[in-house]
Amino acid sequence: MSLNHLDHASGRPRPARRSLRRYRAVGALAAAAFALAACGGGTDGGTDGGTDAGAGGGEDAAAGYPEQDITFVVPFSAGGPTDTVTRLIAEPMAAELGASIIVQNVEGAGGTIAAGQVAGAESDGYTVLMHHIGMSTAPALYADLPYEPLEDFKPIGLVTEVPMTIIARKDFEPSTFEELTDYLKANADDVTLANAGVGAASQLCGLLLQEALGVKLTEVPYKGTGPALTDLVGGQVDLMCDQTTNTTGQIKGDEVKAYAVTTPERVESLPDLPTTEEAGLPELQVGVWHGLYVPSETPDAVVEKLTAALQEALGDDNVVTQLGELGAAPSSQEDATPEALREQLASQTELWAPIIKDAGVTAQ
Ligand code: ASP
Repeated sequence: MSLNHLDHASGRPRPARRSLRRYRAVGALAAAAFALAACGGGTDGGTDGGTDAGAGGGEDAAAGYPEQDITFVVPFSAGGPTDTVTRLIAEPMAAELGASIIVQNVEGAGGTIAAGQVAGAESDGYTVLMHHIGMSTAPALYADLPYEPLEDFKPIGLVTEVPMTIIARKDFEPSTFEELTDYLKANADDVTLANAGVGAASQLCGLLLQEALGVKLTEVPYKGTGPALTDLVGGQVDLMCDQTTNTTGQIKGDEVKAYAVTTPERVESLPDLPTTEEAGLPELQVGVWHGLYVPSETPDAVVEKLTAALQEALGDDNVVTQLGELGAAPSSQEDATPEALREQLASQTELWAPIIKDAGVTAQ
C-alpha cells in the first residue's frame, strides 16, 4: 500500500512525483498481514460483471462529447471517503465538460463489482469509474476477477492521495495509541474491526495493524466505510482504519477516539494526532491513491476531454480547500494524466501481486 511509481531505470518503485506525502509498503509485514487475511478474511459479495469493453464510438462521436449525462461509478457506499472525493470533483468536472455528472454507488466485493460493471460498459465516455488502491490489489486477491485492470480500462488520471487514521468508538477504553496497542494485545478476542471488504483500503490497513501487533481481531465487513463509520459512532463496532476524508469530521467533533495517522508526517488539519511512527509503530504506514478510468475502447479524444476536466477540477479552489480540510491533497497536474495513473496502477499491481500470492490469500 504505497504511493510509489515504477522507476524505469531500476524497475523498482520510486516515490510518486510531487507527492505531498510519502508512504512506504513494508513487504514482509504486508505478506504476513495477508496470511492473516487468509485465515480470517471473507468477502461481502460475488462478482459477475462482464469483460466486454463494448464498441467504441470512434473519434467522430468524440467530437461532440459530451452530449448527455455522464455517470461516475463509485465502488463503495454513499457517504464514504471514495464517494466524498468523487462528489467533490464531479461538480467542477461537470462545469468544465458542460454536462451533468451522476454519481452511482455500486457496492460490494471490495469494489470489484463496480469495476466489472464499468469494464463491460459502452466505451463512449458516459460511464466512468472512480477507484482507489483496490484496483491494484484485486487481481491477486480475487481468483476469477471478471476484468483485467490494465487492459480493460483506459486511465484518465490520478485524483488524490489520502492518509488513513486509526479510530475507535468514543467509549472504547484505551485513550492513547500506546494504550490501544496494549489493550489489543490483551483483549484481541473481544475486539471488532470494521472494514469495507476484502481488498478495501480499510481492510489492508487493518491487517497491517494486526500484523504489527501480532493480534487477530474479529473483522466486520461493510460495503463501504461510510456505513461502517456510522456503526462505529453508534458503538456497534470497536475499531476502524479509514481515510481522513471520512474521519476528520467525527474526530474533530469528538464523536470517535482517534489514535494515530498512518503517514510519516502529521496531517495539517488534525495537528494533535500523532503519526504511527511517533506512536511507536513506524512500520504501519498506509496511504490511499484514487484514479478515474473508462472502458478500454473509449476514444482518445474523449479521454483527453475527461483528463482536461479532471485537471481543471483539481485546481479548483473549493476542491483544494475541502480536500485540505479533510487531510488530503489533490494530485498534481502531472499526475492527473493517463500516463501517471497507468504507471501507478502497473507498479502497484506489481508490488502487491507477489506479496498476496506468497501469502496464499484469496477472497473467494
Ligand atoms: N475507502 C474505503 C476503503 O477502501 C471504502 C469507501 O470508500 O467506503 O476502505
